[in-house]
Amino acid sequence: MSESVFRNYIGGKWLAGEDTQANVNPSDTRDVIGEYAQAGQAQAESAIAAARAAFPAWSAGGIQARHDALDRIGNELHARREELGALLSREEGKTLPEGIGEVGRAAMIFKFFAGEVLRTGGEVLPSVRPGVSVDIVRQPLGVIGLIAPWNFPMAIPAWKIAPALAYGNCVVFKPAELVPGCAWALAEIISRAGLPAGVFNLVMGRGSVVGEAIAQHPGVTAVSFTGSVATGRHLLAATAARQAKVQLEMGGKNPLIVLDDADLDIAVNCAVQGAYFSTGQRCTASSRFIVTDGIHDRFVTAVRAKLQGLRVDHALKAGADIGPVVDAKQLAQNLEYVDIAVREGATLAFGGQALERETPGFYQMPALLTDTTPGMRINREEVFGPVASVMRVRDYDEALAMANDTEFGLASGICTTSLKHATHFRQHAEAGMVMVNLPTAGVDYHVPFGGRKASSYGPREQGSYAREFYTTVKTAYTSAG
Ligand code: NAD
Repeated sequence: MSESVFRNYIGGKWLAGEDTQANVNPSDTRDVIGEYAQAGQAQAESAIAAARAAFPAWSAGGIQARHDALDRIGNELHARREELGALLSREEGKTLPEGIGEVGRAAMIFKFFAGEVLRTGGEVLPSVRPGVSVDIVRQPLGVIGLIAPWNFPMAIPAWKIAPALAYGNCVVFKPAELVPGCAWALAEIISRAGLPAGVFNLVMGRGSVVGEAIAQHPGVTAVSFTGSVATGRHLLAATAARQAKVQLEMGGKNPLIVLDDADLDIAVNCAVQGAYFSTGQRCTASSRFIVTDGIHDRFVTAVRAKLQGLRVDHALKAGADIGPVVDAKQLAQNLEYVDIAVREGATLAFGGQALERETPGFYQMPALLTDTTPGMRINREEVFGPVASVMRVRDYDEALAMANDTEFGLASGICTTSLKHATHFRQHAEAGMVMVNLPTAGVDYHVPFGGRKASSYGPREQGSYAREFYTTVKTAYTSAG
């Protein structure tokens, strides 16, 4: 393996893998960002062993060291957000402002959990037995396997790595195959943050090899996964068999209800921003617009007009609103779903086709499908691209029923000026996150994130709620003797 290969980070050392993989820019497939090491099973196992060896000292070490390390990582991410944002946009395809924003968010997450280190408390209770006291403390779990998707290559690793380390665990991090560049850059920053060797390990490689090794290995106490439902369910079976703790964040088919009384500008902004920005490649993206009769036609006309004004182009080009789709496979899937919808009777009201730009990349015009019904595949299956459909409804009650009529339950939104309907919706939307007059995508970094039904499994991520997953509770009884 040549010196120009980006290596894995295991036990405090940068190590070559069994193989390498080229990291290609989806805005310009002639642009190779680098060659990245691909670990085999043995290397994944050596990372788990390194993390296990580091755990006793790290978990017993002081909270000041944990705080300082996380704070340093957050500071460096913040200081380098423009450079790293450009790397993110180059490898994943979201626009430069979106890339920079995501790195800034990752920085804030590390700084938030630096603070959480100092706020990890317990409880002291009287016992029901005289002379006995009870205290309840949170303890680290051990080695945590973190398996991430490609669509937020900085923020999702950050919201898994930061709490894992904050609460005293050791980490084996496996990024998605398509985005090793951000993972490597983040690992390089972490490698200089003052953590003992083995506390944090980066293992790049295939899901079927490295991910599988993490899922199966008895030395991995817990696995936090974000990705597709199919992989998540497979991981659940593997980890349940050995009673490992597991947390899964998966797909969505997120609805945005627009009622007759909505402010049209707000509704159109929520729809376009929530469904199409970041190329629609967000698990919280709106993909079903559920619109009441009285505003339906005005809404469709205004969304179409807004889409006409958006520029799909190279992610790093100034003025690009929407970057490319992440790869050829995802683009083919998006185009196929547009075809399926039309074959099932939908009207293609705008876009949907593949585009050519100055550079060879995976460009697609945002797609708006109208005249769709709840049974169509476009309204039941996650596309994960810049594709959204409109369903026409009579009133709020029908809209709510339709919004909840899905196997998923990640985010759910409503645009209305009615306090009554907004309040009822917040109460009755079957989703982990509910937005009123805001896009379904776009959340704060200091509060819980997650869903219901097929979208999620296990405790919430982010905010102080992250401690539910990354710690275990111990109840201690003491008698004065
Ligand atoms: P994916 O399931 O294909 O891959 C996710 C990760 O799992 C990758 O690192 C992959 O290498 C790994 N993996 C694959 N096979 C594995 C196996 N057998 N064992 C262990 N690991 C394995 O998902 P993706 O295409 O990278 O991401 C897109 C999906 O992620 C979409 O469904 C999207 O909705 C979802 N997503 C969800 C959230 C959320 O928080 N709910 C956030 C972002 C993305």
